[in-house]
Order: sequence, then C-alpha cells, then structure tokens
Amino acid sequence: MKHDSYDNNGRIPQKDGVEEISVGIYTAGIPRLRHIAEGLTLLENMLIGKDFHWQRQLEALLPGRIEIKDGMLINHLPVEKYLECVVGSEMNPAAPPEFLKAHAIISRSWAVGKILGCHPEGDDGKYDTLSTLIGWDDTSAHIGFHVCSDDHCQRYQGVQPVSPEALEAIRSTQGIVLRDDSGKIVDARFSKCCGGKTEMFSTCWQDVDMSCLKSFDDPWCDLSNLPSARREDVLNSILKDYDLSTGGGYRWTATVSKESVRQNLLNKFGRDIGEIVSLRALERGPSGRISLLHIKGSGGSLDLGKELWIRRLLSSTHLYSSAFDIEDKGSYLKLTGRGWGHGVGLCQTGAARMALEGADAADILRFYYPGSHLS
Ligand SMILES: [Zn+2]
Ligand SMILES: [Zn+2]
Repeated sequence: MKHDSYDNNGRIPQKDGVEEISVGIYTAGIPRLRHIAEGLTLLENMLIGKDFHWQRQLEALLPGRIEIKDGMLINHLPVEKYLECVVGSEMNPAAPPEFLKAHAIISRSWAVGKILGCHPEGDDGKYDTLSTLIGWDDTSAHIGFHVCSDDHCQRYQGVQPVSPEALEAIRSTQGIVLRDDSGKIVDARFSKCCGGKTEMFSTCWQDVDMSCLKSFDDPWCDLSNLPSARREDVLNSILKDYDLSTGGGYRWTATVSKESVRQNLLNKFGRDIGEIVSLRALERGPSGRISLLHIKGSGGSLDLGKELWIRRLLSSTHLYSSAFDIEDKGSYLKLTGRGWGHGVGLCQTGAARMALEGADAADILRFYYPGSHLS
C-alpha cells in the first residue's frame, strides 16, 4: 500500500475525538452482566437478529466500559477494538491481503463517520400514504450511542476470534480513513456485487448524491471470462457458506408467485391491495436498480420504494438486488436480474478480483470511491 497520502503518523487526529465508539446493545429483557476482568464483562443475554426470523440470544464478552442508560445497555470501547470485533470476525482469511486492508479502511470510515455525524441522517419510512410507500433502513437516529449491535448498523457480538490475516489488515491500516475533496469522511458503502455498473446513493437512501459515490462501469466483477479455478478464488474471498456454482449474483433469475408478493406486502408492510395483477418499474437508477415499483392489485395499487424494500417484497428474506426485468407468467413472475446488494460504492466481487490481479488497497479504493483520498 502507498503511504504518501497519509497523515504523518497515519492516525485519526485526536481533535476529531473519535478514539472511542459507543455501541447500543440489544438484550433479551434486563441485561444480565458478570464482571470477568478489568475492562471485560460477560453479557449473558445478548439479542441478535432483532425482529428477524433468525433472532436468538447469545453470551458475549464485552471489552471496554459498560453503562446502562434509559434502559439501554451501552458499551464504550476503542474504535480499533470495535473494528477487530465487527470486521475481523466477518472477513475471510483466505481473501487477498490488499482486499482485507481496503475493507478495514472502509469499515473504519463508516464507523468514524457515524461518530462524527458526517453522513446524512433521515427517518426510516419517508413517504407513507395510501398509494405510496417509500423508505429505507438506514440512519434512524440512535440516541445516546453511535451504532447499535445489530445488522441495522454492523453486527457486533463482543470479542470474537480474529484471524491473523484480518488482524494484520486492521493493524496495518490503523486510523486510516477515506475522505472526499472537502475533507469529509466518505460514507463508504459496499455490497457483494454491483452487476457490472455501480449505483447512486439516492437510488437506495436519501435523495442526496455524494461526490465519491458515483455510478460507473465496473469491468472487474464479471468473472465469466476467468478460468474456473480463478473464479473460485475470487468468490472464496468474499463468500462464506455459499454455493459457488451460482456465480455470486452477477447474473441471476428468480421466480416469485403473485400470492407470495401479496403475503409479503401484507406481512412485511401491512398493506393489502387484493390479488396481485402486475408489477412495473416506475423509476430505475443508472445501474438498472429499481427505486420505485408500481404494484397493481385487484383492490388498489401501491408504489413501493426504495431498493431494499422492493427486494424484501419479492423474497421471503431479500432478493439479490432490485436490478431486474419482469416477465409475467400468469400466477407467477420471472425475474432476470443483475448484481447482489445495493451496488453503491465498493463492489466486493470486483475488489477481490482487483486484489488477486495485483492492485493494492489504495488502487481499489481510488477506483470504487472516485475522488477520495486516504488520510
Ligand atoms: Zn443501528
Ligand atoms: Zn462490480
């Protein structure tokens, strides 16, 4: 990695006051805590996957300080320790080191951006009328802490076993974040696979566009021209228990029954417009991701957005992406799609391939966050 653009000591300046992060932790009932050692507390009833079908309880070892405020358990700990917990445990040690470093830097930028409040804040569920439902899961303000412990922010489960490779990536980039031209920390989004073209921020979240999150062609994530062993190297870098034969979501098809669309609309969004007649894209972002979907039913119609809510409508969990074409097959819909995730910012598939082909972390970040620099 090139070090010429870093600060003298490569650390986040103290004046930003970002040495420590406060994590709000969900618990099943009143927190049951046990002191283990200085700066280490056992939480017996941490709640993860809150309100999702995988919701469960587990024990977690929490480093740093513990506080209970307004009934919420808050864990204060050093930012770098937090990164080891959230990033280290999720990173695949088989991934190329420069990819791991790029990932450590964007996760740190995201966390520090949260602490400094540099990223757009807005309410979830912005437009909610009889005929329109538009929203996103994002930055509904956490009061009294910076980030929560659940998937809504980054999944935090206390001290986790960290591979030496991931630890090296975090430590060798310590304090380094991505900034834009104006010096603001980049809201460094990332997703599994952009599908060949990255997406704009406003297709997925608030109606603002950010200088370093542009839409552009990504030639790196199309793995179809690679020998199969090479293709597996790329997918192994970013996918865990995943069937490699599906190719990582660059191109995909799905069939969805109209009845399941009706049920999802009712169960996930509380709306009933009768039997589903048709679906039509009203607005798309530059990557082809649908940001507003018209759903016609026998008892009314609804315009639904943005991309995450559309993906939620069309699957029992989440559809790969909202970049799809729709074919009406009578009782069901055939969807032909591109990409996995929102497609904004770094494309993990493309970034892993760049690293395997010799790019360093700075090259990767310059490509996916155009106009950004490391500091
Ligand atoms: Zn959160
Ligand atoms: Zn891509």
